[in-house]
Amino acid sequence: MTMPLHDKYFDQFRALPAGGDDPTLYKTLLESTMAIPWKIDWATMRFAYIGPQIEPLLGWSAESWVSVEDWSSRIHPDDRDNVVKFCVSQSVAGVDHEADYRALTKDKGYVWIRDVVHVVRNEAGEVESLIGFMFDISERKRIEHELFKMQKKLEALSFEDGLTGSANRRLFDERLGAEWRSACSVQQPLSLVLLDIDHFKLYNDLYGHVQGDECLVKVAAALKAGGRQRDIVARYGGEEFALLLPETDEAEALQIAEKCRQAVEALQVRHGNSDCSAVVTVSVGVGTVIPPTDGEARHFCDAVDKLLYTAKQTGRNRVVSTFSA
Ligand code: GH3
Ligand code: MG
Ligand code: MG
Repeated sequence: MTMPLHDKYFDQFRALPAGGDDPTLYKTLLESTMAIPWKIDWATMRFAYIGPQIEPLLGWSAESWVSVEDWSSRIHPDDRDNVVKFCVSQSVAGVDHEADYRALTKDKGYVWIRDVVHVVRNEAGEVESLIGFMFDISERKRIEHELFKMQKKLEALSFEDGLTGSANRRLFDERLGAEWRSACSVQQPLSLVLLDIDHFKLYNDLYGHVQGDECLVKVAAALKAGGRQRDIVARYGGEEFALLLPETDEAEALQIAEKCRQAVEALQVRHGNSDCSAVVTVSVGVGTVIPPTDGEARHFCDAVDKLLYTAKQTGRNRVVSTFSA
């Protein structure tokens, strides 16, 4: 079984000047480790000892650590209250403990420290002193921070459509579920707009797939431009987009849908292969629901998809809604 690092250090420390043993051996050992040993006398709250390694790490000489105030005043203000409160309460209770905090350096920087504290009691069980080791954990914290940033980035990427930068289908499905439940609980309207590029296969056939991709990027940007804060614009499928509009009634949703249709048309992306316009257009279905408690979001999506299909059947480049039908 491997022994935790700090236990190993404590064992060395407990073994300090013991009768006939060579005290210089232990002192040399302690002062050559990466961990910085210290001892505080409980009655006076003053440092009885701190390893000289403290100076290369923080810049403060060993002699400058006189009382616990020197220790607490050299803790980052954002960490200080919690750390001091925690360490004092644990020490009073006689419980060994450890705390992570940023320690102030002499040149006004900060170093992440893990302080591992052992409470020493006398034979009567009273607290006599605290001994501990300070470990420099800045590298570990730096790696943790990098990992955290990477994790956040991965999370963001996993919800983003790689081509257009819009929300992807996964995020749409998650948000739809959440907004559905929210709208259901407060009995507020939820609207959904589904848009599909007209004759996009023919567009690709005429201009090629690369230009087809560029067109998708432009359409996505046009749809995002008018979005309100809580709206979600997502790439729903290949050349299909969805707008999820919380707390939006039929009339407002219809207005937004019509604005989107116009915004795509206004891009004036030439389409020489379409029978409904000289430029790229979209057909749009829009629906609104106050979710019933026994309803399902996917049935709502299917209903809106049918409206989109009607828009295709009735000439494309148009909006069909339950309101306008
Ligand atoms: P309709 O007006 O009825 O919607 O006709 P359409 O041609 O747009 O619909 P269809 O479903 O027949 O074809 C969709 C086309 O969209 C075919 C597919 O190659 C294209 N598409 C889907 N995803 C992408 C993409 O990421 N990039 C490009 N360039 N094309 C795509
Ligand atoms: Mg389609
Ligand atoms: Mg299409």
